[in-house]
Amino acid sequence: MYISDTIAAISTGMNNSGIGIIRICGEDAFKIASRVFCMPSGKVPDPFDSHRVYYGFIKDGEETIDEVLLIALKAPKSYTREDTVEINCHGGNLVMRRVLITVLNNGARLAEPGEFTKRAFLNGRIDLSKAESVTDVINSENEYALSNSIKQLTGKLTEKIVSLRDKIKYEIAYIESALDDPEHYDLDGYYDSLLGTVDEIYDELIKLKKSFKEGRIISEGINTVIIGRPNVGKSSLLNILTGEDTAIVTDIAGTTRDTLKQNITINGLSLKVTDTAGIRDTDDVIEKIGVDKAMESAKDADLIIMMLDSSEEISNDDIKIFDFIKDKQALILLNKSDLDQKTTEADVRKLTQQCIMSISAKDETGIDEFKDKIKEMFIKGSLEYNDEVIITNERHLFLIDNAIKSLDEVKKVIGDMMPEDFVSIDLKNAYEYLGAVIGEQIGDDIVDEIFSKFCMGK
Ligand code: GDP
Repeated sequence: MYISDTIAAISTGMNNSGIGIIRICGEDAFKIASRVFCMPSGKVPDPFDSHRVYYGFIKDGEETIDEVLLIALKAPKSYTREDTVEINCHGGNLVMRRVLITVLNNGARLAEPGEFTKRAFLNGRIDLSKAESVTDVINSENEYALSNSIKQLTGKLTEKIVSLRDKIKYEIAYIESALDDPEHYDLDGYYDSLLGTVDEIYDELIKLKKSFKEGRIISEGINTVIIGRPNVGKSSLLNILTGEDTAIVTDIAGTTRDTLKQNITINGLSLKVTDTAGIRDTDDVIEKIGVDKAMESAKDADLIIMMLDSSEEISNDDIKIFDFIKDKQALILLNKSDLDQKTTEADVRKLTQQCIMSISAKDETGIDEFKDKIKEMFIKGSLEYNDEVIITNERHLFLIDNAIKSLDEVKKVIGDMMPEDFVSIDLKNAYEYLGAVIGEQIGDDIVDEIFSKFCMGK
């Protein structure tokens, strides 16, 4: 058990709301509670019963600070596994601070950001990848990110890592035993079976590594750029998607001179959309800056939405854009389907292999199909119901990547038929890298670094 002093912090947001929670954790949590709390009779519970809610008042000497509900949670049945008191006071900024200061004046220390969760980790209640997912749950901006963080919080990533480590551990133990006791363990033909196991683990790790891209898209949003000649309807589309008049819509070519960024949610997915200046050859200096920016933002985009005006012929500018997006993840929208068509889907098909859809930003037709298509492009199956583990954390990616490299070495050693103790070293490396994902064999400095990114009171 990690022994520490008693900490306190406001665990709810610092904006006026119905209820605010001040959390106190550590050896002296109940002692401090008995100094600042009393029931309406004036009595102080002695002792506090665990998992019971008490009604009463927070007092600073003779002064009543607030009317509260106090919850007592005895170790180890609490978030941190330490004695914990949660004071539910009124959620005003000032009153929450007054309660906190009273608690601090009576013996608690102000908690560092993430310190409660750090204690939960150090006391073995949650492993590191679960602790990290607590922040992800709080920061989730869309339903996919949330469902993935909850999955991680309930231990899906841990389960996967533990099962892979168990397989590696078995092989390490086998090799070590065989080297120690050659009479009872036979290493003849062992490399064949080891290679099978290593390949299996390797494939699983590669799958996890690849999931990072999807994970990043889910947690951070799809970096989307709307691109197309002036006047094709880019701003109109953005306005439909955001439901506001964010972009200026006019029929003067080149109105959208700068790039606009918007966060929008489509079918539960976040899109970070950039509406670019119309891409075309231009001598106008200000507009030129916008055009360059458009190309620049489109270069690193996860998704390019290219718009065409179907009431006009395809121009040389459009052909240039087709060329620019040919190797990218893109969707072609043939806009203004409400007007007479001079360009059809068949005409566009001759110029590109990308998905083409007809819409009218004016009548808002084809928009639902367009939204469904985006979901289909980025989410494989129904993410909220499948069991696939997705990694979203750079630290996990780094460690998994290193575990993969260690297994590459194992394969090389097997291929070269080098002695077993060489294999053992690389297997141990892979084992340790994976251990670091869930917080085994990890230094205090890294633990401090991870928890310092947490918000206050968590
Ligand atoms: P941008 O320059 O590509 O951003 O184009 P805008 O969104 O500013 O639209 C240019 C003009 O086309 C505006 O007058 C819009 O009202 C019009 N427009 C946009 N979409 C449609 C559409 O689907 N049908 C019709 N008829 N007009 C449209």
